[in-house]
Amino acid sequence: MESTKKYFEYQGIIHVHSVFSDGTRPIPEIAQIAKEVGVDFLLITDHNTLRGKFEGFEGWYGNLLVGVGNEINDAEDKNHYLAFGIDDELGPTMKAEEYVERVHQLGGLGIIAHPDESRNHISKYPPYPWTLWNSELFHGIEIWNQMSEWMEGLTHFNKIWRIWHPRRSIVSPKQETLDRWDELNLKRKVVGIGGVDAHGFLHRLWGLFSIRVFRYKVSFRTIRTHVLTDEPINVGEDVQSALHKIYQAIKEARCFISHNYLGQAKGFTFVAKNSEGMATMGQSLPLRPNTVFEVNLPREANVLLIHNGKQLAAKRGNKVAFEAPAAGVYRVEVKLDERPWIYSNNIRVTE
Ligand SMILES: [Zn+2]
Ligand SMILES: [Zn+2]
Repeated sequence: MESTKKYFEYQGIIHVHSVFSDGTRPIPEIAQIAKEVGVDFLLITDHNTLRGKFEGFEGWYGNLLVGVGNEINDAEDKNHYLAFGIDDELGPTMKAEEYVERVHQLGGLGIIAHPDESRNHISKYPPYPWTLWNSELFHGIEIWNQMSEWMEGLTHFNKIWRIWHPRRSIVSPKQETLDRWDELNLKRKVVGIGGVDAHGFLHRLWGLFSIRVFRYKVSFRTIRTHVLTDEPINVGEDVQSALHKIYQAIKEARCFISHNYLGQAKGFTFVAKNSEGMATMGQSLPLRPNTVFEVNLPREANVLLIHNGKQLAAKRGNKVAFEAPAAGVYRVEVKLDERPWIYSNNIRVTE
C-alpha cells in the first residue's frame, strides 16, 4: 500500500519483430514509425536473438525510448516467452521451465506471449500456445495480442476484408485468456500487458501480388501498454536506468492496456481509497468500511468493475466511483460504444 504517491505515465508498444528475425524493417525505421505515432517507448522482441541489443540499437531516438528483449521459444516452437532486461539470449535449446527460471534468476522481466492462441483456419500459420501453466516464476501474460486476434479470426472468406480493414478486425482479448488471468491473480500477482506482435508481413494474394498486412504504422495505432513509473523518465537519461523504470512498473503491474484506435487513453487512473490510504494498480489495501474505487477517464465511457473474475457493477461517466464490498482482486474494463478500450491491472483488497 502506498499513500498518495505520484506516478508518471508513459505509453508504449510492446512485442515487435524487426529484420533480426521475421520482421520486415530494421530497428531504426521501426523506431521512426513509433515516433510518428507519438508513443513514449517501443520494446522490440525478435525470436531467440538479442542482436538488436548487442549491436547497439537500444536507446533514445529523439523522445522515443527503444528497449530490446527477445521472444524465446522451445524446441517445438511452443511456449513463446517475452524476456526483457537480460543479456543472455537463452533460446530454443532450453525447455520452457528452464528459460522461465533463468529469466527470473537473472532479474529480468518475463511475459507469456499469446497464451491461448488457437488458429486453425489456415494451416500455413499454426498456433503457438503456452503449456507451462504450473510455473510460479513468470511475471505476466499478454492478455491481448493484436496479431493473434487478427489471425484467429482469419478465414479464406474474410481474408480480403481483414487485410483492408486491419484495425476494425481488432475487437477484444480472448475471454479464455481473461478468465485464466483472473484465476492466476486469485493466487498471486500476474501482470497483464498488451502486445502488437508486429512484423509488417507481406502477404501474397492469389499468388499475384504482395501486400503488407498490418504495416507497422497500422499496428502501432492499436494496442498499447501504459506504465506508471515511480520516478519520471527524462529524455536522454541513461538508457538502462530508463528501461529499468519501465520494466519495474510492468513487473509490479502498475500498468494498463488501451486500444488506441478507439481513442487516446492517456490520463486513465484506477485507485482504491479508504482510511488506511490509497492503492493503485498492482498494489493492495486492507479492507475497511468505505473502501472506494475511483476511475478517471479522458472521456465518458462505460466502466465495468470486475471482482475475482466476475462483473460486479457497471457505471457510465468520465469520473466514476464504486464501493468495495469484500476482499479480493479488482480490475476495471472500459468500453466505448460497447467496444473494449481499456483494461486495468488489479488492485488487491486484503482481509
Ligand atoms: Zn510468438
Ligand atoms: Zn512475436
